[in-house]
Amino acid sequence: MTKPGCPVPFAGSAPPKSAKLPPTSKARYNPPDLDEPLTVLPGVGPATAREAGKLDLRVLGDLLFHYPFRHQDFTRTGKIGELKYGEETTVAARVEDVALMRTRRRNLRLVKAIVHDGTGYMEAVWFNQDYLADLLKPGDSLLLRGSYDGAGTFRVREHEILGRGGSGLHTTGFVPVYSTTEKITVKRLRGWLGRVRPLMALLADPVPARLKADLGLPLKGDAVFTMHFPRSPADFRLAEQRLIFEELFLLQAELLRRRRRFVAAHKGVQLGPVGELTKSFLRALPFKLTIDQKRVCSEISADLKRAQPMQRLLQGDVGAGKTVVAVYTMLRAVESGRQAALMAPTEVLAEQHFLSLKQMLAGLPVRLAFLSSRLKAAERRQVIKEVRAGGVDIVAGTHALIQEGVGFASLAVVVVDEQHRFGVSQRQQLAIKAGGGGLVPHALHMTATPIPRSLALTLYGDLETSVIKTLPPGRRKVGTWQVPEAKRADAYRFIRSQLDAGRQCYVVCPLIEESEAVQARAVETEATRLKRGEFAGYRLGVLHGQMPAVEKQRAMGLFAAGEIQVLVTTTVIEVGVDVPNAVIIMIEEADRFGLAQLHQLRGRVGRGRYKSYCLLFGDPTTEQARMRLAAMESAADGFALAELDLKIRGEGQLLGERQSGLPDLKLARLVRDQEILALARKGAEALIGSDPQLARPENALLTEEIRRAFGRAVKNPERV
Ligand code: ADP
Ligand code: MG
Repeated sequence: MTKPGCPVPFAGSAPPKSAKLPPTSKARYNPPDLDEPLTVLPGVGPATAREAGKLDLRVLGDLLFHYPFRHQDFTRTGKIGELKYGEETTVAARVEDVALMRTRRRNLRLVKAIVHDGTGYMEAVWFNQDYLADLLKPGDSLLLRGSYDGAGTFRVREHEILGRGGSGLHTTGFVPVYSTTEKITVKRLRGWLGRVRPLMALLADPVPARLKADLGLPLKGDAVFTMHFPRSPADFRLAEQRLIFEELFLLQAELLRRRRRFVAAHKGVQLGPVGELTKSFLRALPFKLTIDQKRVCSEISADLKRAQPMQRLLQGDVGAGKTVVAVYTMLRAVESGRQAALMAPTEVLAEQHFLSLKQMLAGLPVRLAFLSSRLKAAERRQVIKEVRAGGVDIVAGTHALIQEGVGFASLAVVVVDEQHRFGVSQRQQLAIKAGGGGLVPHALHMTATPIPRSLALTLYGDLETSVIKTLPPGRRKVGTWQVPEAKRADAYRFIRSQLDAGRQCYVVCPLIEESEAVQARAVETEATRLKRGEFAGYRLGVLHGQMPAVEKQRAMGLFAAGEIQVLVTTTVIEVGVDVPNAVIIMIEEADRFGLAQLHQLRGRVGRGRYKSYCLLFGDPTTEQARMRLAAMESAADGFALAELDLKIRGEGQLLGERQSGLPDLKLARLVRDQEILALARKGAEALIGSDPQLARPENALLTEEIRRAFGRAVKNPERV
């Protein structure tokens, strides 16, 4: 590999001549010509170069990757003697005579040229292009694109004078159409592309030759050439797929390499086989694990036995039973005399986890603790002290777990719930909080917001993945309806009948983005209104983010115990809250929530043996909102909803939301290109298998290209 600043490793090639522009992002393995500024092109001065900068065109190399957004099909050619009425064609002809004609209409002047091609004569007509009358000379060879009007005249749409700048670039074949500016016209761009054509053949090709041969992929230079100047639509598609493949292949190779590097650089705590503690936990469960839960547990178990830290993503729909798996994983650490931590993104969820751990582990010799920034200072200090001294086996908490001053005696397992809500760096910190010997704990990242496989491969391509597909037995679909305002009274009546039957209900207040305080007030107001009105005589409670931890815990405790019948709340209940007797969730202004969020909220009901309902209020004003609510009514499965979400919103938004830190994909579209993605993944796996750090000389081009593509985007080389 060359170091930055080293000469370009091309025998005999001169170093770049121009030092005017800073070195660009282009791989150094490419010929230096690519780094020349646009001003080396004839007729391009500094002003034009500046204008081109608006299109991100700075050096010759940039032109190559300024792909057209479509092509005009100018492939049809004709002979004058055979032209048909109204047909658009390209005709090659010679000028016999030229004249400028005035018409009776003001502002309309015609240039007419008599042209012939050996099969006949016709009159070529241009509107308001007076200068052509002087420019065209008898004997000139022309390429004319236009349509024949059947009476011996041909309306010219586009023309080129062969030998005088014209070569068929604008009038024959599939003619590229580019995004332009006022000054940088499409013709100008085509002209420039025509000039840099020879450079395309010299482009470095990062895809290994073997892979290209196996998959029948064209060379990079050929593909780039074809993107601009395809011979056929099929030709274009192949080129595009080749470049999409490259984009995805580089991404996958980098993700896999990062995983390898992480694994190689860190030692984990090797845990033994399943012990007595875990066995008695499983025995005491009131249910049998589902097949999926069992499979995931054994996948995890295999990871834990290794000397490398586990890096696993556990996906499972809301209510799929991820908690049991989390507890299983943590107990494996505890029974080896180690510690485990469970980190949740919100106070409410962390508390819930703590309470359910307490319940699930009752009677087992496991010392639990809870840590959050809302604890009183003295209490907090005490917990931290015990965790550090090893007096605690499992600690549940919020991101307080990774704050300054928190240390573990010997942390072996970390479970991160709803992991996408944490930043990469937060997760890293937890991993670094290893116990003795600098060992990195095994990490299980859980998410209840399923991600389509294509996204998962891309976003979490550096993690192993486990999926719980099937829900525990006996689950019934949650009846979901949009309720029009006119039926609001009926809805309340229905809810009261369920409350009278002993069930419970959530009322979720509208999303108020401005501030949590405003939202908290909205919850209080709505609760007061309902208490006086529709739910007079019923026991109501409130829960929102602004309440002190003790009060939140009290409210949740009362609701879980059935003391509170209706819980008026915000999205703080979105994740994790588990009260099987709650069978209705009514969501106000549901059109303002995202699909994933609605699905999470709906997951609060249907957790017991009773038929459950999700009532969606609100009047969608946008097409997207309408589609979201319709999707909620029709689809119950989180994976199906995730795919719909991807379709409704597009992957750009989804990727951005997850703060992926990935580079923009220029050509690839993850939904559309799933098959190519699978091929790219396979290719990358084979590659990394044979050269884990891409250190071999034959992969130097690839490494270089990855650095170019990911150098800046990838700030955190290690995901934890
Ligand atoms: P999530 O994946 O959303 O975190 P939970 O772990 O909270 O789901 O599980 C949802 C509910 O299903 C809990 O009440 C849990 O006790 C129950 N559950 C989990 N696994 C099973 C199983 N194998 N059989 C029956 N019920 C189960
Ligand atoms: Mg959960």
